Amino acid sequence: MDHFNYRNGVLHAEDVAIPAIAADVGTPVYIYSTATLERHAQVLKAALADLPRVHIAFAIKANPNLAVLGVLARNGYGADVVSGGELKRALAAGMRAEDIVFSGVGKTRAELQLGLDEGIGQFNIELEEEGAVLAQLAAAQGKRAPAVLRVNPDVDAGTHAKISTGKAENKFGVAIDAAPGIFDRLAKLPGLTLRGVAIHTGSQLTTLDPLEAAYRRVGELVAQLRAAGHAITHVDLGGGLGVPYRPGETVSAPEAFGAMVKRVTQDWDVTLMFEPGRFICGNAGVLVTEVIWVKPAVGHPYVIVDAAMNDLARPALYDAYHDFEAVEPTGEKFVANIAGPVCETGDTFAMGREIDWVESGDLAVFRTAGAYGATMASTYNSRPLVPEVLVSGDRYAVVADRIQAETIMGAERVPEWAR
Ligand SMILES: *Cc1c(COP(=O)(O)O)cnc(C)c1O
Repeated sequence: MDHFNYRNGVLHAEDVAIPAIAADVGTPVYIYSTATLERHAQVLKAALADLPRVHIAFAIKANPNLAVLGVLARNGYGADVVSGGELKRALAAGMRAEDIVFSGVGKTRAELQLGLDEGIGQFNIELEEEGAVLAQLAAAQGKRAPAVLRVNPDVDAGTHAKISTGKAENKFGVAIDAAPGIFDRLAKLPGLTLRGVAIHTGSQLTTLDPLEAAYRRVGELVAQLRAAGHAITHVDLGGGLGVPYRPGETVSAPEAFGAMVKRVTQDWDVTLMFEPGRFICGNAGVLVTEVIWVKPAVGHPYVIVDAAMNDLARPALYDAYHDFEAVEPTGEKFVANIAGPVCETGDTFAMGREIDWVESGDLAVFRTAGAYGATMASTYNSRPLVPEVLVSGDRYAVVADRIQAETIMGAERVPEWAR
């Protein structure tokens, strides 16, 4: 459920008419709904309320905007970070260091050190050598780093290959068969408090089966580690819950997820950690765009919009589907291709899709753009970096400026010898 609805034929973000924001801020622009973010944060919390000990860390790579993180921090969420930059953001947004989990397959020594200096809550170790380096860095300061070992459950998430993370051939985690040996060796290091295991199976999972299969494997591993004498107090189950992108698409409900987790983990006696990203913010954002031209073409006409693959990369990157709706639909439809202005054939949002009738100058939105949208934006083709707006009730504010080409050029230098 989200808070982008038509009132008197005009699409609103909560109580604000989208044309008002477009007139004020320009297009393209991302608009996020505070009420939707809060609703999803609460729905997930409620779905997990039956579990004894729970820690929820928002995967901030899905939407790292400081104002968005602030909403989630207020709702009791910690952060799952995958870089030093994200770690700084989580802290800047008011998340407590102890509520921060540091994931990622290529953490540098400097990033590990930053996490230690800030006293973050947990390091998710992705390979044995990383654990050894972290232990060394911590021991050098007389600390013990709280850590879990990320294992690769070798489960097919049944999602797009580029967002599947839990197959044996993926780069993430240690092979589940190798985990007991690695755990034994790392647990002996004085700089670590190795307290459990982590997984993350993939993203945009629309059924619970792959998650359940992965969790069951983790349950077996936990029993095995305990039998070997290890104290296992934490299991991080990762993220991955999908959201509906297409009209009529169904995904598993958070209540069903909570019930499955309860069933599978009832004997585990651990703090369960979750790292939801897309589920929290996917439907909480739209990308507003203006139609520049409707260009006749062989087959179907091209609707050329002022948003492009540099603003919303998912269609070019993952063939992702984003619903396209006119902000003031006439009720008529036509079949068209939708593309942006970037000079790449891949800068195409849809081919041969039946969409609302639009003409040059009309506003439209790409729905479900709150996750992996603005965060992946670039300035390719020297386009401005897309701005972001947060709405709450009848208020809105620009929460990220449009960064213009002049500003970006300002960071570039031409040495004397290249002039
Ligand atoms: C990306 C990621 C997540 C979040 O995934 P969603 O599908 O957005 O829920 C969680 N944990 C890790 C380690 C990730 O890399």
